Amino acid sequence: MNFLIQRSDLRDLYEKVAANQRISDADALRLFETRDLNALGAIADLVCQRKNANRASYIINRYINYSNYCILSCQFCAFSKKKRDADGFQFTVEEIVQKAREALALGITELHIVGGLHPSLPFSYYTDMLRALKNLDARLQLKCFTAIEILHLAWMAKKSVRETLVELKEAGLESLTGGGAEIFRKEIRSQIAKGKESAEEYLDVHRTWHQLGGRSTCTMLFGHVESLADRVNHLSYLRNLQDETRGFVGFVPLPYQPENNRIAVENPPTGFDSLRTIAVSRIYLDNFDHITAYWVGLGLKLAQVALSYGADDIHGTIIEENIFRMAGTKAPQLQTETEMVKAIREAGRTPVQRNTFYEPIKVWESLQTATEAESPTSKSKILEDNLATA
Ligand code: SF4
Repeated sequence: MNFLIQRSDLRDLYEKVAANQRISDADALRLFETRDLNALGAIADLVCQRKNANRASYIINRYINYSNYCILSCQFCAFSKKKRDADGFQFTVEEIVQKAREALALGITELHIVGGLHPSLPFSYYTDMLRALKNLDARLQLKCFTAIEILHLAWMAKKSVRETLVELKEAGLESLTGGGAEIFRKEIRSQIAKGKESAEEYLDVHRTWHQLGGRSTCTMLFGHVESLADRVNHLSYLRNLQDETRGFVGFVPLPYQPENNRIAVENPPTGFDSLRTIAVSRIYLDNFDHITAYWVGLGLKLAQVALSYGADDIHGTIIEENIFRMAGTKAPQLQTETEMVKAIREAGRTPVQRNTFYEPIKVWESLQTATEAESPTSKSKILEDNLATA
C-alpha cells in the first residue's frame, strides 16, 4: 500500500476502491472535503492506471464556432452575442470548409463545432455543413453540437429530438460534444443558466444519441455558486446514465472562468480545487474509461499535474478557442503536438495520439519513435497526406 495512504484517514476508501467496490455519494462527498490531496490523488491514480495503464492521450483537433449569436443569455456566458452587437459573427458553410481545409493541412483528425442558439439559421445549414465537411475528407471526425443546440435545432425544424439526431447522423455527425451540462441541480442551474435545458433534457438528448449508436462526452462546470454536494449530485446523474447506455467515452470537468460575465464568484477554482475535482471524478465515475484534464481551462501546466491525479487525457491542439477565451482564460489559443507529448512524457506517462473516441492512433513508445496503433478509424494518414500536399 502506498505510504501516503497508510497514514491517511482515507485508507478505508482506498481499500474499497482497491477491492473494485463502487463508492457511494457520501464517500464522494468525503473525498471532496478532504485536505489530503496527495492521498486522494493516489486513490485516483490507482483507478486511472487500472483502466489506462501508463498511457495518457491527446488529440489533434480544431475548434470552430460557426456563430456566436444566441437567443439565450446564460449568466456565466461571455461568448453569446445578439444581432445588434458589433462583435457577433456567423460563418457560411464555405467559410467553415475553408477553415477545415487549412486545419487538415496541420494534421487534425477531428473538428469540434459548436455555436450559440442561432435565431434563424435553417436546419439545412447544419446538415449542409456536415455533408460538406465529410466531402472534404471522409476520415475527418465530426464532433458537433451541445445538447441544448440539438433541442434548439429540433424546435426550429419542428422535429423530434430523435428525428433531428437521425438526420444529423446521416449527414455525418459522429459525436455530440459534452458542453452545456453546467451543474444539474435545478436551483443552481437557474442561477447560472436560466432558460437553458433541464438536467433531464440534457441527459435525454445524450440517451437518445446513445440509443442510436452514437457516442459523446459529458462535462461539469465547477467552481462558481455550487456546493460540493451539488457536484456529487451532478456526477451521480452521469454515472447513472452511463450504467444505462455505456455511451459516454469520456468526462471533462471544466473549471469556471470568472471574467466577463454576470455571476459574482468570490472563490473561483484554484489548483487544489481543480485537482481534487478531477481526482474525485476519476474515483466516482467507475464506469467511465477516460477523464480529460482540459488544458484550456486549467493551463497546460496544471493539466500535466492532473495526470497524476486521475486524468489520462489532456485534450487537443484546438487551434482556436473562443468560449473560454472570452470568459477570461489566459491559456494560449493552441498547443502543438510537440508540447503535449513533452508534457505527458515529463509526467512519466506514455503519450498516445487518440481519435474522437479515445482510440489510439499513435503510441510514442520511446523518446524518438511513435507506433501506428491498430485502430479501425486511424487518422494519422491524414497527416501524411497533408504533409505531402501542403
Ligand atoms: S452558454 Fe450557450 S446557450 Fe447559454 S448564452 Fe452562451 S451560447 Fe447561449
